[in-house]
Amino acid sequence: MLLAGCATPGHAGPTAPPTEVAPSQTVTATPSDDASPSADAASSAVSAATTPPKAAADCSVVNCVAITYDDGPSPLTSQLLDIYIERGAVATFFVHGPKVVNDPVTVQRAHDAGMEIGNHSSNHPNLSLQSAEVVAREIGDTQQQVAAVTGQAPRLLRPPYGETSATVNQIAGQQGLSVVNWTDGPADWENHDAVTVAALTLARVRPGAIILMHDTHQWTVDAAPAIIDGLRQQGYELVTVSQIIGSPQPGQFYTDGQAPA
Ligand SMILES: [Zn+2]
Repeated sequence: MLLAGCATPGHAGPTAPPTEVAPSQTVTATPSDDASPSADAASSAVSAATTPPKAAADCSVVNCVAITYDDGPSPLTSQLLDIYIERGAVATFFVHGPKVVNDPVTVQRAHDAGMEIGNHSSNHPNLSLQSAEVVAREIGDTQQQVAAVTGQAPRLLRPPYGETSATVNQIAGQQGLSVVNWTDGPADWENHDAVTVAALTLARVRPGAIILMHDTHQWTVDAAPAIIDGLRQQGYELVTVSQIIGSPQPGQFYTDGQAPA
């Protein structure tokens, strides 16, 4: 079954073959890694003019939602980050390695602001139809390219089109990745106006939901203020996907996060 989730124009199938990773792009933690208190202090100083994200909520106790944006970074992503950072909110961005290489500044900014960066493959193929070798390369190249920018390899894979298999999940697990689809979303590939995207998101959310959107659409970016404010008015805490799952296990497949019992 081919889900419509990522069937956006321009993403109908495999594109260019993956490029080779330069030998210099090794996956190593840098001094800007999350574990460094001094890096945290520096990040806080840089973002002092805006509201920093709060400590993550306990999603087994309070109502959480994780908003996700696929297919970026795009030329619209920095505008979307402005909206989230201004409100002290977080989201998860499932990115393509080649786009990260083209726009490392945006990815670094998202990481520094507390957004989670996930892996969406290099070239957006249906991974369930690829050889194990291609799957490993599609995932592995993007792991390295994100880590080269943020100092942290992703923990989550969003398979293109939501298409995965036992083999894909296993290969993802070997690279330290959980596989994450979504609970619901506003179908922003067919609803091309911000009012509808916001209204559908607020109507379809439930505690523990992982919501699918794309930061490649202007109407999706324009819907973000109403979505963030509306979710908060409904009593939701906005968290990342790793936070809403709690402790994602490599090789496991998820479509929902934790909700209060
Ligand atoms: Zn996609």
